[in-house]
Amino acid sequence: SAVLLWFRKDLRLDDNLALVSATRAGQPVVPVYIWDADDRQAGSLGSAQDWWLHHSLAALDDRLRALGSRLVIRKGKALPQLQDLCRQTGARKIICNHRRDPPAASIDRAVSAALAEDGIETESHAGQLLHDPARLLTGSGGPYRVYTPFWKTLERCGEPREPVDAPESLEAPSSWPDSETLKSLGLLPQKPDWASAFPEVWTPGEAAALEKLETFLEDGLDGYETGRDFPARPATSLLSPHLAMGEISPYRIWHATRGRNVSGGDLVRFRKELAWREFCYHLLFHFPNLADKNWNSRFDHLRWHGDETAFRRWTEGKTGYPIVDAGMRQLWRHGFMHNRVRMIAASFLVKDLMIDWREGERWFRETLVDADRASNSANWQWVAGTGADASPFFRIFNPILQGEKFDPEGTYVRQFVPELAGLDDKYIHRPFEAPAKALEKAGIALGETYPQPIVDHGKARTAALAAYGALKDQS
Ligand code: FAD
Repeated sequence: SAVLLWFRKDLRLDDNLALVSATRAGQPVVPVYIWDADDRQAGSLGSAQDWWLHHSLAALDDRLRALGSRLVIRKGKALPQLQDLCRQTGARKIICNHRRDPPAASIDRAVSAALAEDGIETESHAGQLLHDPARLLTGSGGPYRVYTPFWKTLERCGEPREPVDAPESLEAPSSWPDSETLKSLGLLPQKPDWASAFPEVWTPGEAAALEKLETFLEDGLDGYETGRDFPARPATSLLSPHLAMGEISPYRIWHATRGRNVSGGDLVRFRKELAWREFCYHLLFHFPNLADKNWNSRFDHLRWHGDETAFRRWTEGKTGYPIVDAGMRQLWRHGFMHNRVRMIAASFLVKDLMIDWREGERWFRETLVDADRASNSANWQWVAGTGADASPFFRIFNPILQGEKFDPEGTYVRQFVPELAGLDDKYIHRPFEAPAKALEKAGIALGETYPQPIVDHGKARTAALAAYGALKDQS
C-alpha cells in the first residue's frame, strides 16, 4: 500500500514537512491535488489565481517527475476523492500541511473526521506560517489585536525552525491511480485572454520563487526600508503570489535573510512585513468575521454610496487621478499592485468614492495573483479604518501628494498610463491643473484621451469626514 501526499496551498517540495514525513513512511508516495470547483477557498481564490494555479501545478508535476514521481489530479469534493484514491492505492494514511484560513481549516477537520471513521489516518504539519496562531497568545491568554505587541512577541520567540531541503527521490507506486489532466480543470482564461501580459512579470512555480528570493537578497534587500515605498523601484521581493500558493516557505525566506551584509533596518523591516502576513492570519484565525464584516461594528452605520459607475471607473483605472489609475491598470495588466499604491487606490475607493471596502476587497481577490483571504481583508479593513489596529478613518490619503512623494518623476504612472507619458513631471500627478499648452504638447485632450477627475479630492475628503463625524455622533 501507499501513503497519499495531499497538496493544497503548499505547492513546493522544498521545506515541506508533509513531504518529509511521507518519504520517511517507507512506503510508495502518491502526490495528489484535488480541485474543487465549488470550494474556491480550498484551492484558489479568484480568476487571476486560477491562472497561477494552472502553471503552478504544471511546475509541481515537473518537479515530482524529476524525482521519479508525478502529480495525480482530481476534480470534485475532497472527501469522496480521497476515499476513492485510498481504495485505488490501498493507502490508509493521508499526509498534508495545515491550512490556516478558517473555511479551509473547517473543511480539513470534517474530512479528517470522516476518514477516521473509515480507519484512514490524516497527519497534518505546519509550514504555511512561522507561528501557530492558536498558540501565540497575549499574557492574558487571548489573541493579539495590535501589531506591535504581536511583533515583539515574535521577536521574543527567537528564530523559527530551520527549513528542510527537498528529498532527492520519491518512491513511486507500482501503478498510478486515475488522474484528470490539468487542462480539464479549465483554469486558464478563455477569450479574451486577460492574463496574456502576466508572463511579462510572473513565472509560477517553486523554482522561480527560489530564484526570485535570491535576486531580492542580492539586489533588493539592501535599501529595502526606504525603497519599498517607491512603486517604480524594483525594491520589494515580489514573493507574495509564491507565498500565497505555498510555492516558497516562510521559513526558507526568513533564514535566507540571515547573515546578509545589509543594514539592520532593512533586515528588520523586511521581517516585519513577513510578520504582517502572520498577523493577518492571526486575526483571521481568531476573528473569522474579519473576512467580510466590519471589525469595528460602529462602521455598520456608515452610509456608503455604492455608485456603480464610479466603481467601474475605479476598476478600469479611469478615475482621473494618475497614481490610482496606474495602480488599477497594473492590477489588471499584471495581476499585482505595489503595496504603497494598493493603500492609495483602496483609500480612494473607500474615502473619496465612499464605496464599501468589501467591494474593493472582492475586486482585488478576483484580480490579484497574490490574493489571500487573510492579507486582503485585514489590509482593506486597515485602510478603511474599520479594522483591528487600523489607520484611523480620518487619515485620508491625498492621491496627488502621495503620487508626487512616491513617484516623483512619474515613472510608474508613465508605465501604466501611457497616454500621460509625455506630460511634464510637474503635472504628471495633476494633469487637470496643467495649462492647455502643456497638455497639447503631451498630446492629451482631457476628458477624451484621459479622464477628468471623477471627484474633487478636497470636496470628497470633506464629505467623508462629515459622514464619519455623523457616525461618531450616533454612537
Ligand atoms: P515585500 O515588500 O517584499 O514583503 C515581503 C512579504 O511580506 C510579502 O510577499 C507578503 O507576504 C508580506 N507582506 C508585505 N506587506 C504586507 C502587508 N501589508 N500585509 C500582509 N503581508 C504583507 N498581500 C497579499 O499577499 N495578498 C493580498 O491579497 C493582499 N491584499 C492587500 C490589499 C490591500 C488593500 C493592501 C493595502 C495590501 C494588500 N496586501 C496583500 C499586502 C501587500 O500589498 C503585499 O503583500 C505586497 O505588496 C506584496 O509585494 P512583495 O511580495 O514585493 O512584498
